[in-house]
Amino acid sequence: MADIVVLGAGLSGTLMAYELAPQLRSGDRLTVIGQGPKYHFVPSNPWVAIGWRKREDIEVNLEEVMRRKGIRYLTQGARRVHPKESRIELEDGSSIPYDYLVVATGPELAFDEVPGLGPDGYTQSICHVDHAVNAKEAFERFTQAPGPIVIGAVQGASCFGPAYEFVFILDTELRKRRIRDRVPMTFVTSEPYIGHLGLDGVGDTKTLLESEMRDRHIKWITNARVTSVEAGKMTVEEVDEDGNLRKTHTLPFGYSMMLPAFRGVGAVRGLEGLTNPRGFILVDKHQRNPAYPNVFGVGVGVAIAPVGPTPIPTGVPKTGFMIESMVTATALNIGALLRGGAPTAEPTWNAVCLADFGDGGVAFVAEPEIPPRNVNWSAKGDWVHYAKIAFEKYFLRKIRRGESEPFYERFVLDKLGIRKIKEPA
Ligand SMILES: Cc1cc2nc3c(=O)[nH]c(=O)nc-3n(C[C@H](O)[C@H](O)[C@H](O)COP(=O)(O)OP(=O)(O)OC[C@H]3O[C@@H](n4cnc5c(N)ncnc54)[C@H](O)[C@@H]3O)c2cc1C
Repeated sequence: MADIVVLGAGLSGTLMAYELAPQLRSGDRLTVIGQGPKYHFVPSNPWVAIGWRKREDIEVNLEEVMRRKGIRYLTQGARRVHPKESRIELEDGSSIPYDYLVVATGPELAFDEVPGLGPDGYTQSICHVDHAVNAKEAFERFTQAPGPIVIGAVQGASCFGPAYEFVFILDTELRKRRIRDRVPMTFVTSEPYIGHLGLDGVGDTKTLLESEMRDRHIKWITNARVTSVEAGKMTVEEVDEDGNLRKTHTLPFGYSMMLPAFRGVGAVRGLEGLTNPRGFILVDKHQRNPAYPNVFGVGVGVAIAPVGPTPIPTGVPKTGFMIESMVTATALNIGALLRGGAPTAEPTWNAVCLADFGDGGVAFVAEPEIPPRNVNWSAKGDWVHYAKIAFEKYFLRKIRRGESEPFYERFVLDKLGIRKIKEPA
């Protein structure tokens, strides 16, 4: 009988466990290793950071759900994976062996790569719910003495949608509070143009997002490298398309949130053959590691090459639906291996995204996420804001119930022609 371990209990890890459970033979054991008892829905962190949600609204007690589903759930976290020994060393010094491992550890946030960046420096973060709670307190202090705001994503970032969401929902909230007129706003990004998103745009995201910025009087700096942050001051180098310095900006701010670059987590970083130099898990078209075939990778922690060169490093985002396609393929492939077969399922890496602006938003569908694409569509409208709220409620309900993809979701996606697994050629 086999021991199957999922490392990480965020978006990809919880869904991974729910999809693996029905693949097990009787006697197989499924273990999930998390860092603490609770799951939080990362896409709602921007709402927590301006008080539209409380942390309790977006958290789920996983211990209870996993117990109900017969999945062993360990909360102490992993210190190091030892792939040659098929063993995971846990933070409390104990070890657990595995026959199959799925690494679902998400990103480590590389704030240390820019002096003064992040919650231990001078900018806020929305990447973790703890950060979002602190960002909310800082925002309330800021509203007592409004001044300039700087929002964006630094060099090497691979997640841009939440930066756009956050600048627009801040604008919405400041207008609600009738203090927007006292707040000059600047968006700073490593992307070569607004709406690139690490994906060379999707549909017409360039025009849609630029026009939204203009409508809301938000200035922007693209091709930007943040060299340092001090109290109330950010230094940003803007380069031209050949990477030559065009201008150095000194941006004063009363409040700032910048998305950092991501890297793989310490438990796997530096493991020859398992990870790339940034610590992301190397996977083949079946989400399987070529050097250690009993290890799979899903989620933000997986290595994906940039869509093309950019003057300032700009990574590819790993978005929710794309991650779900990695999860479904991995569950099917481990199921096949347990039955003596070979992995055949290939994820589509399709992306379906909703970016909320608080009073509207932008939706896009990219099939597949990496260009060139079969479907390349984006649209703007009030409906996106309501769709995002509905999706949050729906997703959290799935996590609480221990379901990954109820039959009606599969039915709707099928009708829309949006698939998680590639059709056999
Ligand atoms: C602010 C923000 C908003 C986003 N919004 C959207 C959106 O609206 N739509 C969309 O499609 N995508 C969105 N994304 C992108 C993506 O969907 C999310 O980042 C998603 O949470 C990624 O899932 P994951 O499982 O890879 O990582 P995570 O959800 O971050 O989960 C990783 C888990 O691994 C755990 N872990 C790490 N190291 C260890 C260890 N050593 N031992 C045990 N556990 C460990 C962590 O505690 C964490 O729980 C957003 C990303 C961010 C940062």
